[in-house]
Amino acid sequence: MKKARKVVYTLILTLYCMNPSIAQEKISDLLRTNTLELKEVESYMRTNNIIPLSCEEDHAYGGDVDHVKRAKTFGFSTKPIEAVYVFNVYFHILNDNNGYRDIPITEEHILEAVSILNKSFNPFKIFFKYKGYGHINNTWRSVVYLGGNRTFNQLIDYSKGIDKYRSDSFNIFIASSIRRSQYDQTRIAGVANKPGINTVIDDEYLLTSTFPHEIGHNFNLFHTHHNWNKNNCELVRRNDFVEDTLPSVPYSSDDLIDGCSSELKEIRNKCGIEIRQVPSSNFMSSNVMPCRSLDNALFTQGQGKRMRLSIHEQISPMYMGTQNSVESLYEPFKGNYDKVVVDDSSDSDNTNFKFQKGFDYEFVDCYDTNEVEESFSKDEIPNIHPPYTAIKILQISSEEAFKCHIPREEQEEENERIVISFGAIIGNNYTTHKIKYQFSKEKEFYKRIPLGFNLIKTKNKYGQTVQKMIYKSQ
Ligand SMILES: [Zn+2]
Repeated sequence: MKKARKVVYTLILTLYCMNPSIAQEKISDLLRTNTLELKEVESYMRTNNIIPLSCEEDHAYGGDVDHVKRAKTFGFSTKPIEAVYVFNVYFHILNDNNGYRDIPITEEHILEAVSILNKSFNPFKIFFKYKGYGHINNTWRSVVYLGGNRTFNQLIDYSKGIDKYRSDSFNIFIASSIRRSQYDQTRIAGVANKPGINTVIDDEYLLTSTFPHEIGHNFNLFHTHHNWNKNNCELVRRNDFVEDTLPSVPYSSDDLIDGCSSELKEIRNKCGIEIRQVPSSNFMSSNVMPCRSLDNALFTQGQGKRMRLSIHEQISPMYMGTQNSVESLYEPFKGNYDKVVVDDSSDSDNTNFKFQKGFDYEFVDCYDTNEVEESFSKDEIPNIHPPYTAIKILQISSEEAFKCHIPREEQEEENERIVISFGAIIGNNYTTHKIKYQFSKEKEFYKRIPLGFNLIKTKNKYGQTVQKMIYKSQ
């Protein structure tokens, strides 16, 4: 019984972010008609003072008291861990049956989303390796509901059933919308397993601070106001089980002094705690956009520590299978090293590379790694790997370079010679052979022709045929 409850509270818990705004419909229209870009959603909301999002937790979750005990050994005053963590991330674009969706999602958007994750989590040595994306064409599944049918967990099971789920990666489902239920169509920005490796996000929020927020849940973070409304003062004091986040209350813009300030109009008091301001730019605060955006949002050191400890202690058994090597980050997600040839410095063969953006790259001389030949900033997609250079990702190390690129030797073109073999006497008795050869392997060619007299016809570089007779002895 006890065990069953534990399983329920570790696996079932999902957190919801609710979006009741009407103004939101306008944003959908603008995105649909390409008048607004996905990555402009947050700034559009700020400019137009659209304050649509509040976050809501699933109160079916019941293990909070246990969490106080857990928090004493976990997340507070634990030794720091030095590891660098790399997680694979894979995206599922949910479409209608015929592959159509209102708001088109391209690989460019997805790379931007991965870069957002890296920028948000890299300060804590948590990295994301882009593993690609796929489509799920099913109108019925493209909208996700919190309750009843068509839930997030059912969507995950469905993706497993059709062999699209990636157990080696974080799975990000991009939905056309997420709604409370068939009866209450209130929209929600995202749902994440906490802890876990699955997230579904409303397509409009893919390139906003909501995305790192959801992944924060995956790594076991609570909302900053998580415990405020609890009756147990021990829980209220524990706040979100992170030592350096400000105690917080659920709030809306009406509670704040003005606009995007973090100061409350009315001081709140509970359990001896006085709250004058809220951490409005924390990734895990109530989503009072436009106050929180990718321009200002952050995780605290304490949140970083809690995430790293959650990974270290494998709070989700799924973390392990989705991790990758640090070296994997230095691999391009597109490009073919076999095609790059020595001496071909005209960029044509060298531009088929694509490395994920979100990092500061330096391509340095393989043998003198302080010599930088090319560099790319976080918002660029490096599209070359110059021969004889190795790669530095400054977010990982400004010292160590990986993956020296030594192109292969140029292959000579194979040609064909016609050889007419007469044997011991030149006469009417002869046989004709076609023998392949390379300029640099002339000896090999002579080994392959028959003994005796041979008339060899070779095409020269002008296309003319040149003949010569040779005699091959034993
Ligand atoms: Zn949330």
